[in-house]
Amino acid sequence: MALAALRVYEVRVRILSPTIITRRRTENGFLGPLDYIPAQTLRGAVVSSLFMEGLMDRNRMRAEEEVPTVFSSPAYPVIGGARTYPAHPFAMECKVCAEKGEATLVGELDPTKLEDSLAEQRDLELVPVECGSGHRALKPLHPNKFLVLEGGKFSAPKERRGGARAEGGGRASAEKSHSVSVAISRGRAAGIKGMLYHYEFLMPGKEFWATLVLPAELSIPGNGLQLMIGRGVSRGFGRARMHVVGEVTSSFSGTVKVLYALSPTLGASDGNSTYPSTIELRDVARRFGLEAERTVRVSRAYGRTVWVSAGWSMVRGEPRPRVLCRAQGSLLVLEEQVEGEASKALSLLRYTGTVTELNGRKVFGFNHLVPLGCM
Ligand SMILES: [Zn+2]
Repeated sequence: MALAALRVYEVRVRILSPTIITRRRTENGFLGPLDYIPAQTLRGAVVSSLFMEGLMDRNRMRAEEEVPTVFSSPAYPVIGGARTYPAHPFAMECKVCAEKGEATLVGELDPTKLEDSLAEQRDLELVPVECGSGHRALKPLHPNKFLVLEGGKFSAPKERRGGARAEGGGRASAEKSHSVSVAISRGRAAGIKGMLYHYEFLMPGKEFWATLVLPAELSIPGNGLQLMIGRGVSRGFGRARMHVVGEVTSSFSGTVKVLYALSPTLGASDGNSTYPSTIELRDVARRFGLEAERTVRVSRAYGRTVWVSAGWSMVRGEPRPRVLCRAQGSLLVLEEQVEGEASKALSLLRYTGTVTELNGRKVFGFNHLVPLGCM
């Protein structure tokens, strides 16, 4: 079955009210904030909003759980006007240089050189031990710090460049805030003992970039789409607005050896692997009207292993399971170089990710993969 032609848009998401996005829920409330919007969270918010705005009917919304036509990438911060990407495992920061206010980024930051070294299994050479000034005080940036791509190379966002203290103070703390609130008993209108909740949230004004895939008959209104993101939306948290900045029309043609994971990676449904050992291209190719029956094999993966919540089922009203993944920013090395129609299909995974079945449920938001050489 060939699906309707899909279109890819680049979007910006602006946070309008404090937004709580967390990795996990603990006894004391929500802790461990994320400073990006996971793909499954953003996708769910877009589908809900299209339904609320009357752009998608209820049946169609239900069908999205089984036969998806709407896809979103994760949304990462726009810093100093530039799109940022999660740091890869070989990018470090020198703590000594940072304190002096000098350039801090260490590691192979040229995606092409990174790709060549990994393809030739010279990965040990990629692990930096000291900065250019000989300091052995390196701190890994993967996966929670963000880099920009400038002139085809990774670099630090301008706001952090030479700005040691940007990390703990200054702008960083202006964007993230922390509050403690007490649960209120309806009967007594007083705080309930032992019900102290810690929230960490993103402050209004923060902007993110993402890509959104929509079938041709759906579009985001010209004045944008109001979204409800994260926890506590019934209490006014998580209001955001999405705007389209343009349609993505360029298509990739080239060879692929190494893939950069724009989202966390996830193995097959047996759940035994944190990354896919094989990637079937048929589904993603068909979604975009291409023919590619090929299965590509992944031989190695570099990146941190993390637990990720597979999101929330809108239709079933229940959480999807937590799964063991490789973090966003990880790198996957292919067994063989991929080219032609297959590489074109492979490059489209950055927009849709793969749809994986877990315990009989479909999960979204994993394996958004980008050929490293063409980021
Ligand atoms: Zn240094």
